[in-house]
Amino acid sequence: MKILVINCGSSSIKFKLFEMPEETLISYGSVEKIGEEISIFKYIGKTKLEKKIKIDNHQIGLELIANTLLENEIKNIEEIKGVGHRVVHGGEGFEKSVIIDENVIKKIEDYIFLAPLHNPHNLSGIKGCIKIFPKSTQVAAFDTAFHTTLPKVSNLYAIPYSFYEKYKIRKYGFHGTSHRYVARRVSEIMGKGKYELNAITCHLGNGCSITAIKNGKSFDTSMGLTPLEGLIMGTRSGDLDPGVILYFLERLNLDISEVSEILNKKSGLLGISEVSNDFRNLLPLYNKDEKVTLAIDMFCYRLKKYIGSYMAVLGKVDAIIFTGGIGENVPLVREKSLNDMELFGIVLDLEKNKEIVGKEGEISKDSSQVKIFVIPTNEELRIAFDTYQLIVNSGFNQ
Ligand code: ADP
Repeated sequence: MKILVINCGSSSIKFKLFEMPEETLISYGSVEKIGEEISIFKYIGKTKLEKKIKIDNHQIGLELIANTLLENEIKNIEEIKGVGHRVVHGGEGFEKSVIIDENVIKKIEDYIFLAPLHNPHNLSGIKGCIKIFPKSTQVAAFDTAFHTTLPKVSNLYAIPYSFYEKYKIRKYGFHGTSHRYVARRVSEIMGKGKYELNAITCHLGNGCSITAIKNGKSFDTSMGLTPLEGLIMGTRSGDLDPGVILYFLERLNLDISEVSEILNKKSGLLGISEVSNDFRNLLPLYNKDEKVTLAIDMFCYRLKKYIGSYMAVLGKVDAIIFTGGIGENVPLVREKSLNDMELFGIVLDLEKNKEIVGKEGEISKDSSQVKIFVIPTNEELRIAFDTYQLIVNSGFNQ
């Protein structure tokens, strides 16, 4: 059964086509810079393409993807039985992936106020695919779903309770599909039931978040009401004294959009290094450029603080797991965030750490009580799997 997975961002669409349940990746690619003068379409499947053309909106991008699939991998549109969509914010409404109907669309719209930068684009992907693939089952997989198990003690902010009651202001957490995927993979590797694993999962990509998983369920996570809280990221600040925002507003007379721009787009690794948000550009300058060195050291220090606090929260930890572009590819970050933690039962094997880059592997010493793993994330496969299961369970399209 062919399942297409779609991830629509503000100016991009990423897609992967799978044969399920075999989990075979048939083709994948992306449309980037939608709405700009020149957009970029990349496709890898039976053919390999890279086109620079103008793509005005998501609908046109989706049509281009569908036509390329028709030219290369499928004979007719109906061959695609399901389309799985990444949806960033499912609020308190969705504990797992669901088949999309009008009611689900309405709820995703209702949560736009919690994720104005993400949900509108996820919705345009859904609406576009309903038009292009009218006979396919459309499924929504929510970034927040895995974190619906957070207890109140970790998900409420210490502001007046009425703000939670009236406006649902609380921590929701993100990257849930990735945290769940890597945790389940390590359960398999360690031969543990999925609800037997205590783990700390570090998703370090463009956005970064860390989750404390207790008995296979999310117990605490670093991102909050929005994906701005927590770890230092490429361009986002992560945690800071809310007083800084008051200072921006009251003392510097910045308006709200300027503050949002600073915290979301000009902070983090980029803000401190003044060079780049991308680790690939920063690493060659480590220990050569003062601000770049500081940015990387701060990134690792914040990560280490979170790992330490989640060790305390969980008590017993079976594994620490690294994933995402940085987590999978940067041994320096793993080394600096885990050094001198023998007292916690964490002993990194420096040789294995250097060796395991961009692939799966264990990087702890045999003497380490807490096992340390690198697990390449595969959110799309997880979404394809959920979509396939929902289709099979509902008896649709068989
Ligand atoms: P996203 O969060 O958008 O899914 P990724 O998980 O692919 O993105 O992470 C992208 C980031 O990972 C890049 O900005 C870069 O900092 C880092 N990264 C990716 N590949 C490498 C690499 N080979 N070496 C160092 N850093 C990398």
